[in-house]
Amino acid sequence: MTGANERYDLIVVGAGINGSGIARDAALRGLRPLLLDKGDIGGGTTSWSTRLIHGGLRYLEHAEVGLVRESLRERERLLRIASHLVEPLPLLLPIYAGDRRGPVLIRAGMIAYDALSFDKSLPHHRMLGRDETLQRVPGLNPLGLRGAALYFDGQITYPERLAVENAIDARDNGAEVRLYTEVEELLVAGGKVVGVSGRDLLADEPFEARAPLVVNVAGAWVDAVLRGVGTPTPLMGGTKGSHLVVGPFPGAPPTALYLEAKRDGRPFFVIPWNGQYLIGTTDERYGGDLDLIVASDDEIDYLLAETNRVVPTARLARPDVLWTYAGVRPLPHQPAGATGAITRRHVIHDHAGHGGPAGLVSIVGGKLTTYRELAEQTVDAAGRLLARALPRSTTGNEPLPGASGDGTFPVTGALELRSTDHLRRVYGSAAGAVVARAVSPGLPRPFDPVSGAIGAEIPYAFEREGARTLADALLRRTMVGLGPEVGIGADLAAAEVARQTLGWSEERAEREIRAYREFVSRYRPRSLGDALSPDSAADHVTMAVLKPR
Ligand SMILES: Cc1cc2nc3c(=O)[nH]c(=O)nc-3n(C[C@H](O)[C@H](O)[C@H](O)COP(=O)(O)OP(=O)(O)OC[C@H]3O[C@@H](n4cnc5c(N)ncnc54)[C@H](O)[C@@H]3O)c2cc1C
Repeated sequence: MTGANERYDLIVVGAGINGSGIARDAALRGLRPLLLDKGDIGGGTTSWSTRLIHGGLRYLEHAEVGLVRESLRERERLLRIASHLVEPLPLLLPIYAGDRRGPVLIRAGMIAYDALSFDKSLPHHRMLGRDETLQRVPGLNPLGLRGAALYFDGQITYPERLAVENAIDARDNGAEVRLYTEVEELLVAGGKVVGVSGRDLLADEPFEARAPLVVNVAGAWVDAVLRGVGTPTPLMGGTKGSHLVVGPFPGAPPTALYLEAKRDGRPFFVIPWNGQYLIGTTDERYGGDLDLIVASDDEIDYLLAETNRVVPTARLARPDVLWTYAGVRPLPHQPAGATGAITRRHVIHDHAGHGGPAGLVSIVGGKLTTYRELAEQTVDAAGRLLARALPRSTTGNEPLPGASGDGTFPVTGALELRSTDHLRRVYGSAAGAVVARAVSPGLPRPFDPVSGAIGAEIPYAFEREGARTLADALLRRTMVGLGPEVGIGADLAAAEVARQTLGWSEERAEREIRAYREFVSRYRPRSLGDALSPDSAADHVTMAVLKPR
């Protein structure tokens, strides 16, 4: 048994963006948190979003003015405290004759959005006429086009890195971070939750830890963690959303497009992202396996058809899809009504106030954009529940490690230009610490020709940033797995670097590569072969095997 004798102030279950943010806020205020995840940092829904740091223009339709204001304030903060990861993103919202949302409604929404972000650094919106719209995006379907609104939000290319930096900074400030440790049971004594027990999945041994407060921030899995302590109704009722990734295509927009789907009037995006285009999302109720969520053929066809309608020269078909991903939004339980109308606001649910045990708080809902504020509010609540007078949160002004300093880092002549660029985009000012490890001959060289990621990033991922598996290093540290080939090919080179620098045996390298390829087969990637054949998505994943390229 591991972990039983340590003393913690709180146990945070789930190292997604919200759990990692909570752990960092708590550690910076002098508490000692234990942050647990059954997988890797940011390996849950945090990896499956549209990657926007946005106020949520759409929420104005549901009169969620408070949520929009809060999100816009957080957007501004993240542009500062995570400046290496979050960038301004221009979005064009074309308006067509017959759209459910006409120019008057769009204009009113834009004015409200600007008013609610009066203190922003980003430009105000502009309404464009038909000709200027077509000048900006010549590929747009001109039929019925009336004009467009041009406005700004934030884009985070790698939310996974935001979670990793929060968790690692939490650790550097006194938190303990234990990955691949699954909570199976909440320990209850005298009507109070006193800790958690479960399994260390990599060591394959039981695990137990105790603390006066457990924060259940397991996202879509919140109800599964509560199993055994009994809540009358489920807290979560997530909806599934899928995305496609395609390469640049004829008529591809130079700015992001915010579009209305013809089939159901739902908004969706076509976004330049990571040298590719991200198209999504869908929004469907989901009751399936939370650990294996796959974009369905129907969702893929829907997103392709809607994109082709707005950009007719695109003519995108299934073989053009490089890969896909899907996740479940951790939304509050609301079994009836339109999925788009379910609130995106978060709730800090103190079980003792609802007839449940003391010492337990569950987090319901939340977006990437508002993680920092959610974390601050949760730690404020933790202070009250622990009867501890805590200092005020500093995370609103305290830059994340990669955003500290002036963003520059020492570059040696051995680095290629694309590698310098990649290091800056992934690690920000912490890139200097990666470069400092590029001491032996192979390490400044790219192991991934697409991104320019260098060998030194592999030992850095494991020794400094808590990676435990090859998948962690490729998908949530170096970000190589988010390229057009989802890291197929680069995985072999990365495992070779691990053999040379981390002492991996040949057997471990092979096992890691096999596990990696099995994992990414859920993306239905083109680089793994006939992923988008007419077979069903589920069939494809069950037959996921190591295929030579
Ligand atoms: C399709 C889609 C699009 C989205 N787009 C955006 C967007 O553009 N902008 C935005 O702001 N937000 C967006 N979101 C919302 C956002 O991604 C999520 O709200 C956010 O990532 C949730 O983070 P989390 O930390 O709460 O959950 P997660 O990231 O899911 O983290 C929960 C963690 O708990 C762990 N866990 C589960 N069970 C256990 C257990 N028993 N023991 C230990 N650990 C456990 C999991 O492994 C997981 O890592 C989108 C979501 C989806 C699905």
